[in-house]
Amino acid sequence: MPEGDTVWNTAQVLQRGIAGEVLTRSDFRVPQLAATDLSGATVVESASRGKHLLLRLRHRDDRLTLHSHLRMDGAWRTFKPGEPWRGRPAHLVRVALHTQVAVAVGFHLHELAVVRTDEEHRVVGHLGPDLLGADWDAGEAVRRLGAKPDRAIADALLDQRNLAGIGNLYKAETLFLRGIWPWTPVGDVPDLAGLVALAQRLLSSNKGRWTQATTGSLRKGEQQWVFERAGKACRRCGTTINRWTGGDHDRITYWCPSCQPEAHSVGSK
Ligand SMILES: [Zn+2]
Repeated sequence: MPEGDTVWNTAQVLQRGIAGEVLTRSDFRVPQLAATDLSGATVVESASRGKHLLLRLRHRDDRLTLHSHLRMDGAWRTFKPGEPWRGRPAHLVRVALHTQVAVAVGFHLHELAVVRTDEEHRVVGHLGPDLLGADWDAGEAVRRLGAKPDRAIADALLDQRNLAGIGNLYKAETLFLRGIWPWTPVGDVPDLAGLVALAQRLLSSNKGRWTQATTGSLRKGEQQWVFERAGKACRRCGTTINRWTGGDHDRITYWCPSCQPEAHSVGSK
């Protein structure tokens, strides 16, 4: 599940693979960039902003940024020149950036666009503070969340305009660990700052590895408390984990009805 940590790791893969290199060829396989040729450009750096990837390039006198978003299933991989592009089917290739030392291949990418680097705000300007950014601002994230106190906390945490990097997995796990019912209005969440700090710690703890562990265990099947565990027993209390689909963007929510009880009985899920 590509969330902030996965995207941060992916940015590192591109940084290690092609930063400092000159593109000998670019091969875009999306209609909007079919005519784009970045050959001759130097890869300046690879960065992430929430769940967005920014590959910054110097192309003649221009500074350009190749923007991409992984959404649910996108990925970037690097290969040695001439090596087969394993891992994903060829028809999912959206772009290949060739250098003398490596080829960076983007599979099933979304929102692929080239913008001027000084106009990156056009693609990421709407984002709230980046949980894994050097400029992470917890106070600003709390302020943005709190601006809509009636909104369900589960939806508010996913809204990248509030804070950038949380997806379904970290949403579900953070709410479980704080014992918060997913439909609790933001204004009723006790210690919103503590909740935000926990989410930031969970994402940070998985930087540098592809495992998204929130339980402390890196073993397969033991990595999460509630995420994708519907019908299974809660690791804390044994109650059956619930699952509900809906809300903004039709996202799936997992929760333990005993560990995360509804505080006020206003409707029920
Ligand atoms: Zn429980």
